[in-house]
Amino acid sequence: MNQSGKPFLIAGPCSAESPAQLLQTAKDIALNYPNAVLRAGVWKPRTRPGSFEGVGEEALIWLNEVKASTGLRFAVEVATPLHVELALKHKVDVMWIGARTVVNPFSVQELAEVLKGIKEVPVMVKNPIHPDVNLWIGAIERIMTAGVDKIAAVHRGFHQYGNSQFRNEPAWEIPIQLKTQMPDLALFCDPSHIAGNRTLLSFVAQRAMDLDMDGLMIETHCTPDLALSDAKQQITPEVLHELLNGLRIGQSENEIIDSSNELQKLRNSIDAIDDELVQLLAKRVGYSKKIGNYKQENNITILQIRRWKKTLKNQLKNGAALGVDEKFVRAIYQLIHDESISVQSQSQQVKSDGKESLKKA
Ligand code: PEP
Ligand code: MN
Repeated sequence: MNQSGKPFLIAGPCSAESPAQLLQTAKDIALNYPNAVLRAGVWKPRTRPGSFEGVGEEALIWLNEVKASTGLRFAVEVATPLHVELALKHKVDVMWIGARTVVNPFSVQELAEVLKGIKEVPVMVKNPIHPDVNLWIGAIERIMTAGVDKIAAVHRGFHQYGNSQFRNEPAWEIPIQLKTQMPDLALFCDPSHIAGNRTLLSFVAQRAMDLDMDGLMIETHCTPDLALSDAKQQITPEVLHELLNGLRIGQSENEIIDSSNELQKLRNSIDAIDDELVQLLAKRVGYSKKIGNYKQENNITILQIRRWKKTLKNQLKNGAALGVDEKFVRAIYQLIHDESISVQSQSQQVKSDGKESLKKA
């Protein structure tokens, strides 16, 4: 971890399984990370019935014993109002709402009701299973509206249909959107549930650090291969230490002090290009409007597929010659073309509406 103590660390097993498992894991984590929060699922939302569903309230007693001997604060997942009540009764330090709960605004609202006025216990909100940033924001807003003071978001990836190297697709643009819309909210990453295996963990954790995320939640188990849930993705506290030591952690915006440096010059150049880009886009939209009118007057359909294909082909060729990524050019041109079609349709609409009202007048 760097000097500022970043990333904030939440480590511990997927599930609390026994007092011995919790104590051993916590002791080994505390050796290097005495300020970490120990995570442990007590009620497990399992995809299929019959899998290990957690030991429930009893594990909260174990977690308190482990806290007394290691000093580690602990975090558990809450999915129902009863979970919240029991967790609070057993003096939980941090709660998190899991991905399967965040998808359901009724469930989140029920949790918000019992969390009303809870000032001292932070609540972490994982992203919903599907890639919908507004559903995630909505859940955070419900918890905020309940008056909970300390809230963090946790990025744990998104379910996708079909093959992927990840258990849950990271879709990094979604946490970036969240950070853009809620810049003051702490944002953590859960590389374990994104990766789903040990090999990809450090890659995902590094990406989270490159995106200036504030903390990591990593499933850590004293004997990962014997874990009763998520065995494939858990690592020992020792491997956790190696992983964290290997991370490159850069300075974030407010840590960069020298504003007259090379970075500032480069940023000025980017700003100038951005100004030019938007001016050019505005000019292009102006021509699209004129083309829309011309097509209407001469009875030409708005979409001319051969023309569009030719435009795209030319720009892909330009891009290739200049070393710009093909996917990038294609995506940008798709947006530009969509906007052109929409502007042309609007300009025709406005005209025909105008004609209608003239006729009526
Ligand atoms: C977990 O953290 O063990 C868990 C169930 O996570 P998620 O809600 O992200 O699936
Ligand atoms: Mn898990």
